[in-house]
Amino acid sequence: MSNTFTYQTEQFADVKILRYQVPEFEKLNLRQKQLIYFLAEAARCGRDILFDQNNKYNLRIRRTLEAIVKSYDGDRESENFKSFLVYTKRVWFSNGIHHHYSMDKFLPEFDEEYFGELLANSNPDLLPFGEDIIELMNQLVPVIFEENVEAKRVVLNPDLDLIADSANNYYEGVSQEEVEKFYASADKGDPEKPLSIGLNSKLIKENGELIEKVWKIGGMYSAALEKVVYWLEKAVEVADSDLQKQSLIKLIDFYKTGDLTTFDEYSILWVKDLDAHVDVVNGFIEVYGDALAFKASWESVVNFKDIEATKRTEIISDNAQWFEDNSPVDDRFKKDEVKGVSAKVITVAMLGGDCHPATPIGINLPNAEWIRKEHGSKSVTIDNVTHAYHQSSLKSGMLEEFAYSDEEIARAKEHGYLGGNLHTDLHECLGHGSGQLLQGVGVDALKNYHSTLEEARADLFALYYMMEPKMLEIGLMPNLDVAKAEYDGYIRNGLMTQLTRIELGKDIEESHMRNRQLIAKWVFERGEHAIEKVMKEGKTFFVVKDYEKLRELFGELLAEVQRIKSEGDFEAGKALVEDYAVKVDLNLHKEVKERFEKLNLAAYAGFINPDYHPVIENDEIIDVEISYPMDFSEQMLEYSEKYSFLPHVN
Ligand code: ZN
Repeated sequence: MSNTFTYQTEQFADVKILRYQVPEFEKLNLRQKQLIYFLAEAARCGRDILFDQNNKYNLRIRRTLEAIVKSYDGDRESENFKSFLVYTKRVWFSNGIHHHYSMDKFLPEFDEEYFGELLANSNPDLLPFGEDIIELMNQLVPVIFEENVEAKRVVLNPDLDLIADSANNYYEGVSQEEVEKFYASADKGDPEKPLSIGLNSKLIKENGELIEKVWKIGGMYSAALEKVVYWLEKAVEVADSDLQKQSLIKLIDFYKTGDLTTFDEYSILWVKDLDAHVDVVNGFIEVYGDALAFKASWESVVNFKDIEATKRTEIISDNAQWFEDNSPVDDRFKKDEVKGVSAKVITVAMLGGDCHPATPIGINLPNAEWIRKEHGSKSVTIDNVTHAYHQSSLKSGMLEEFAYSDEEIARAKEHGYLGGNLHTDLHECLGHGSGQLLQGVGVDALKNYHSTLEEARADLFALYYMMEPKMLEIGLMPNLDVAKAEYDGYIRNGLMTQLTRIELGKDIEESHMRNRQLIAKWVFERGEHAIEKVMKEGKTFFVVKDYEKLRELFGELLAEVQRIKSEGDFEAGKALVEDYAVKVDLNLHKEVKERFEKLNLAAYAGFINPDYHPVIENDEIIDVEISYPMDFSEQMLEYSEKYSFLPHVN
C-alpha cells in the first residue's frame, strides 16, 4: 500500500478518524465490482435502523443537528458553534447520543439556551417538526442535556433492571423479569436447533400484553429494509457463487417474512459458501447492545478475500482439530469433530450499520451455537483495517510510554503487527468455534456475563496457542518473539493502556474490555513469577518475566472459563467477572490517564468509507470506480441525505 496515503484525517473528543484503502479492488472483474457496488449500497440503507435501535430519540436528534449544520445562519466561528460541531460529530460517530464503547450518554459542551438559538436561526423546513420549535425543544432538551435521562444505552450493573434502566430501543415498558419470563416460555422450535428468539424484534407492552414488533418488510423498519432488499435483489443477479445466490435469496426472504427459521437457513447457506471471492455480512447480527443478548443490531460488512494473507488462516483451519484436541480444557467440553472452520483474511470494501464508523477487526459468524456445531463458522480477519490502525499508531508514542524496556519496544515494533493479527486469527477462527456445551445447558445460562466470558474464552484460546511450538512448525511465525510481543502487549493493554478509554472513577462495562482485564488481572494475581509490577521513575510497568509460566496460566484459566460455559455455571462466571473484570484500581487508573493525556492521542478510532461510482453506458454498468473521501462530516451528511428512509418515530 502506498505510503503517501493519508490515514488520519482528524481528531475530536476521544476519537480519531481514519481512512482505509481497498487494495486490489481495481483487479476484480466487472461482475464482482458490480456486486460490491450493489452490496455497498445495501450496507448503507440500514443506517437509520441502527440509530433507532440505539435510542428512540436518535433519529430526531441527528436530523435536528444536521438541519443546524446545513442551515444555521448565525456566527459559525464561535466557541459555542465549535462545541456544537463536536457534539454533532460524536452523535454521527456513535450512531446516537451514547458513547459507542462506554454506552454512557455524552453531554454537549454548550447549553440549552444556545441550542434554542441554533434552532431559531436554522431553516425550519429541515427540522423534524418544522416551525414547531417549542415541541422539538420539549422532546429533545431533556434527552440531550439532562444527565439522568436516557443515561446509559446498555446497563450491565446487576443491581439495576438490565432492561428498564437501559436506554436502547429494544424494549419499551417492560422489566427484566418480564423479558426473561417471556423468552423462557417462547417457542424455540426444535430443541436441538433452537431459534434465536427475539433476535429481530422490539418487545413492548400493549394493553398489558407483551408483543413483539418484528423488524421486517411490512413491519417495524420496513422503509429501510425495503431499500436494503432492493439492492440485495440486484446483487443476486451478479452473485459470486451459486451458494451465495441462494443465500442472498434466503436473506431477502428473511427480511420479507421476519421468520427466524429462514434466518437459520440463510446462515447455513452463508457459512457453507466458501467459493465466493466477494462476501457480505448483512443483517441483525450482534447482540452486544442488549444486556440480555436477545436483540441484534443491524450491520453490514462488504468484503473480498485477501488471497495472499489468507494462506496464514488456511494453515490454522487445516490444523483446527489438532488445536481442539490439544487444548487444556476437560475432554468432556471438547468437540469430537471440529466442523468447517473456515478462516480467511479479508479486505473490507464497505462498512455499514453497527460496523461503521467504528469497526471490528475480526468477525466470526454465525452466532447460533447449534449452527456452529453442525455446520461450522466463518471467521475473518480484516487486514486493510488493521493495517490502517497500525500505520496510524506507529508514531503515537504509546509504546515508548507504557512498555518497560527498549527490548520490549523493539519487539513490539518488529513483531507486534503479526502477533496481533495471529491473535485475531486464532480468536476468531478457533477460539469462538471451540468447545461444546454439556447436554441440557442453555446458550443463555450465563445471562449478562455471557459476552465477557465468551470473549475471554476466545482470547484465552488464542493466547494459549500463541506460544505453542507447533505455531513455528507449521510456519505461522518465524520465531517465538512474535508470541512474546503479543503477550507483552496483551498484559500492557489489559492492565493499563485500555484504561485510557474509561472515565476516572467508572467501572469497566464493555465486554471485550472486561474480558481483557479479567484475563490480565487473573494471571497477574496468580503468577508471582510470571509477571512483575515494576516502578521506574514513579511510573508503573507490568513486565512479563516468564513467558512459559504465563502460557500455563492462560491455559488454566481457559480450562475454567470453558468449564463455566459448558456447564452453564452462572455463579462461577459471575464471580470471575465481578472479581476481575469490572473494578479498576483508582490510583493506577489516574496514573495511566495522566501519562496518556500527555501524548494527546485519541482512545478510539473510526473510519471514513470509500465511495463507489458506477460508470454507465447505454444503461449498463461498464465499470465501477473507487474514490477515497477525506471529510468525515461530509460523508455523514451525504449518508443522511441518501440513505435515510425511516420516520422520526418508529
Ligand atoms: Zn470475539
